[in-house]
Amino acid sequence: MNASVNLPESSLQLLTELQSSGLRLASPEGESDGLSRRGGAGPSDHKAVVIDGVTLMVPVHTHGAHQSVFVANEPDASGVSVLTRGSIPIAQIAFAKKPRFYKLQTLDGVPYSHIATLHGTDVLATTVLQTCIRYESRKKACKFCAIGQSLAAGRTVAHKTPEQLAEVARAAVLLDGVKHMVLTTGTPPTPDRGAAILCDSARAIKRAVNLPIQAQCEPPDDDAWFARMREAGIDTLGMHLEVLGEAERARIMPGKATVPVSRYMSAFEAAVKVFGRGQVSTYILAGLGDPPQRVLDVAHQLLAIGVYPFVVPFVPISGTPLEDHAPPTPEFMRSILAPLGAMVREAGLRAADIKAGCGKCGACSALSSFEKVAA
Ligand code: SF4
Repeated sequence: MNASVNLPESSLQLLTELQSSGLRLASPEGESDGLSRRGGAGPSDHKAVVIDGVTLMVPVHTHGAHQSVFVANEPDASGVSVLTRGSIPIAQIAFAKKPRFYKLQTLDGVPYSHIATLHGTDVLATTVLQTCIRYESRKKACKFCAIGQSLAAGRTVAHKTPEQLAEVARAAVLLDGVKHMVLTTGTPPTPDRGAAILCDSARAIKRAVNLPIQAQCEPPDDDAWFARMREAGIDTLGMHLEVLGEAERARIMPGKATVPVSRYMSAFEAAVKVFGRGQVSTYILAGLGDPPQRVLDVAHQLLAIGVYPFVVPFVPISGTPLEDHAPPTPEFMRSILAPLGAMVREAGLRAADIKAGCGKCGACSALSSFEKVAA
């Protein structure tokens, strides 16, 4: 979770610039430490960087990152690197340490890191089902998503069992002090959209260890699933709009766009009644065609319902159809995050109050830092 500090204007500027431009790593160790997010569901190709007390996922494997003006120099013995812009040193940064649970494997030989990974500095995250009906044909799949890539590369297993997840969660809490967990999933061909599998996973994890859990899935067919998910031990829920405009949704995520935004809105209302205001969230990818005012208008509606609008800059993941799509500029992100930070604060739904999940972690966006800016 990001530190509760008010950042100066120059730091906010640097955070948005780093997420847009990415970072070059001077040290080859940084490339191979197993701590970058590569592939997986949703946004990826990042590395967790701690700067001014804020943990931020910064692109390191994208085409743009390899050309970035920002360079992380060889870390010193304490793990601190000097960040330079061109040749000028501008800040000290640190990378998340490799967690101890990565050294372990299950009795049948599956490395724990193939079951769940560390996100940011204190979040355990997994894609429970690494297959997705939306991904069966690349034409229907979400163009930003790489859920099939880490599976094809042998870095993960297709279906993580509840027992495997419980075992890894317990180890990650005991050995590395993780504070909360994200269970996301590819969408299975069942009307519950993965809710049942998420319930089974959460039940097993909660039996093994007391760890706040966020589940993420498409809206299930029946709103009764929200109460079942809560009873299973899921603390917060993410249902991710990703892209907002009808034309952009149809172009960028043709399969997922068959579920209209109106269904997301009705599902949000039902879910907030179960999980509470601020404990339901949605990911919105900025930079894929939605103009800033549209993002802010939808965020306004979401906040009125009690949903946390987690707006993140789009990261073009290598190997996906959008790998050459330019990421949003820092100015574009600021034009959304500055007013959005104030809107979130006024609505009383701050990242710091979320019990678990992406909004609480906040590392994929500078939004939580903008929430803390004094009005
Ligand atoms: S915001 Fe979500 S996806 Fe991003 S690093 Fe944190 S837990 Fe992972």
